[in-house]
Amino acid sequence: MSKAIVIGAGVIGSSIALELSRNGDDVIVIDKGAGAGQGSTSASSAIIRFNYSTLDSIALAWESYHCWKNWREHLGVELTSYSQLFDVGVLMLDAPEIAKERIADLYTQAKIPFELWDKETLAMKLPHLDPGKYGPPKSISDEEFWEDSTDSLGALFTPQGGYVNDPLLAAENLADAALSRGAQFRFKSVVTKVMQKGNRIIGVEINGSEKITADVVVNACGPWSSEINKMAGVGSEFTISVRPMRQEVHQVNAPLNLLPGPIMGDLDLGIYMRGTPNGGLLVGGTEPECDPLEWVDNVDKVNMNRTQERFEAQVTRAARRLPALQIPNTPLGIVGVYDVASDWTPIYDRTDLDGFYVAIGTSGNQFKNAPMVGKILCQLISEVEAGRNHDVEPVRVHCGHTGNEINMGAFSRKRQFNSESSGTVMG
Ligand SMILES: Cc1cc2nc3c(=O)[nH]c(=O)nc-3n(C[C@H](O)[C@H](O)[C@H](O)COP(=O)(O)OP(=O)(O)OC[C@H]3O[C@@H](n4cnc5c(N)ncnc54)[C@H](O)[C@@H]3O)c2cc1C
Repeated sequence: MSKAIVIGAGVIGSSIALELSRNGDDVIVIDKGAGAGQGSTSASSAIIRFNYSTLDSIALAWESYHCWKNWREHLGVELTSYSQLFDVGVLMLDAPEIAKERIADLYTQAKIPFELWDKETLAMKLPHLDPGKYGPPKSISDEEFWEDSTDSLGALFTPQGGYVNDPLLAAENLADAALSRGAQFRFKSVVTKVMQKGNRIIGVEINGSEKITADVVVNACGPWSSEINKMAGVGSEFTISVRPMRQEVHQVNAPLNLLPGPIMGDLDLGIYMRGTPNGGLLVGGTEPECDPLEWVDNVDKVNMNRTQERFEAQVTRAARRLPALQIPNTPLGIVGVYDVASDWTPIYDRTDLDGFYVAIGTSGNQFKNAPMVGKILCQLISEVEAGRNHDVEPVRVHCGHTGNEINMGAFSRKRQFNSESSGTVMG
């Protein structure tokens, strides 16, 4: 049994805390917020899809889907309320970044059911949708944005997948399950120093004074992850860098005939969309080249007000695809911050400081994987602390629901840049 500190009680840190507690470790979770999930997790669109650019990421998402589907069993504890998966299916409209044939091949390898829809099938199945090809995405102030489509799109459809209705509650569920297994949570506590002796972690300092010792420390600080890495003196040896990025997700009323439609990835127009249980529609962006990226230097100083400009850009694109959509005058929605890895693939790994682990670079796309991230981090920590040289012989994790195997080398801090990455939130 080892003593572990998890910094960050978001959906990722809470899941890691649950699995370490299940493993019999003595776990303390430290978070500067007032409760679990109040960081970037609370802003999440909580979409559960499977398309990523590598087989290991796809296997991770597919296995995690089964955890969401069997959420009570996954948590293993009776709670008063549970977050819920809305299994409405996922539609990825044709776009070069989606690499449909390649993803279909990876889905086949991971044993994920899917359908390839040609133009006629898409038009027949979703008659409320304008199937026109407009891409590459353009600014709405560009006259070309308003030009007629040049062709029609097909799509890649998975009947499974969808969204979790309440990402904050999902993190709370994981934290409550960890609590029931003996984990302790220290809220309103800021980690101010990472303590080490030689090349070994020995604990953290909180609020500038109190010292808590540990054998293992995990950085699960979401967009604040780089600050903690700096305190630990790690990061310069990584081949993959991470950086926070501001994002807006907008909400509008959806025409009734759209619901409960599938989640829609529309990289042809540069957006994604999903319904909400109360008849709304969320519209997020997929980093189209025509839009400036909003990199952030200080996460605590981000403008958390949605802007008219972003709102109009994203919702007008949505209305192009869904002509019945009304565009309100007043922006509604939320602002959140991604922790973007240079290849949009997370880092789940040890570091060169012994006993210091990272679950970072979640790139706006790892909510869905949180249930399994707890498990893969737990196995990684157990094996590395037992002497495994993970950098040379990467840990491999068996997926209990799907039978797949995840090679954790795919999430290494020292991996080769993932050249198959879409360069967007799709991973
Ligand atoms: C707008 C938006 C939409 C998204 N949509 C999706 C989606 O549809 N599907 C999907 O899969 N993913 C999505 N994501 C990504 C997903 O939400 C994140 O990957 C995930 O929530 C990250 O969780 P986390 O626990 O790592 O980070 P966080 O939830 O940010 O938790 C980090 C915690 O660390 C704490 N902390 C930071 N610094 C310190 C310190 N010094 N001391 C103590 N505590 C500290 C913070 O208080 C915070 O609670 C989205 C993200 C955003 C922002």
